[in-house]
Amino acid sequence: MKHSATVSIVLCCLLFLLPLLTLVPRIGEGEEEITQIEKLPPGQQDAATTLRVLVGDTVEEMTLGDYLQGVLRAEMPASFEEEALKAQAVAARTYTLYKIETGGNHGTDADICTDSTCCQAYLSAEKAASNWGEKAELYETKIDNAVAGTDGETILYGGAPILAVFHSSSAGMTRSSGEVWTSDLPYLQSVEAMEDPETVPNYYSTAEFTAQEFKERFLASHPEADLSGDMSSWIGTITRSEANNVDTITVGGVTVRGTELRSILSLRSASFDVEVKNEKLIFYVTGFGHGVGLSQYGANEMAQEGKTYLDILNHYYTGVTITTYVPKLTR
Ligand SMILES: [Zn+2]
Repeated sequence: MKHSATVSIVLCCLLFLLPLLTLVPRIGEGEEEITQIEKLPPGQQDAATTLRVLVGDTVEEMTLGDYLQGVLRAEMPASFEEEALKAQAVAARTYTLYKIETGGNHGTDADICTDSTCCQAYLSAEKAASNWGEKAELYETKIDNAVAGTDGETILYGGAPILAVFHSSSAGMTRSSGEVWTSDLPYLQSVEAMEDPETVPNYYSTAEFTAQEFKERFLASHPEADLSGDMSSWIGTITRSEANNVDTITVGGVTVRGTELRSILSLRSASFDVEVKNEKLIFYVTGFGHGVGLSQYGANEMAQEGKTYLDILNHYYTGVTITTYVPKLTR
């Protein structure tokens, strides 16, 4: 009897403590203790592929490995978990090889560029180091290891690298490529969002526009819209995806995609509600980015829960194979 009471007490304590244990460490916490990690040797496969990278107006030749380190420095906070950084490295490698094998955006001049709105963002080691300050050495090693630790690993569908797009954070569910762009790709489907809203900076944001500001922005793209009269009559029917993203919205009689209005108004995502209040149009926005493919904050949350980079990639990209891949360079 006494023994079973002790067991009960221990079990109760465990039940109480377990949820607490899963809450730590968070980004920035616990991490302070790590000051040095062992650096892995550079990967053989990434080193064997040379890329022509358009940096501003000049084309620079660099290995795939060096390029991927620059992408990681720019595209994901280096404070993130190693498994999240590895998932990002594989996604960035795959995206790069997809661009090369499908012709890319730069014709015969370059394979890829460093403009985030065209290809992927890129940051040199020097610039990143000045941003990171005293953490520069640790962060650089984490990034080197994420690339070297996944050397050559690529996400394939039907034997070819996929369009491995990624975004910062999504709302409820990720979005399928067909919802956001034109073609619906089997491996870019809507899946459960994994981020914890509490840990994502600016997960909920608002954007306010006066009647004049809104008119200027919207009419520049759609001069045919009727934005006369009271602004409470401007916004018409809104259709939404299963996960509450705006599919289409009618503004002044013109129906546009939620993604287009997002771009016109520079909203952080196409997951939004809108109301007229105090003579302003107020947009309440959730998440950041297009919402397709890997969510970076979701990846970090999964890593904190003990998931590997392969678990993360298999969650966000549907029905794919992740394996070492030798790029088919036709140039
Ligand atoms: Zn580009």
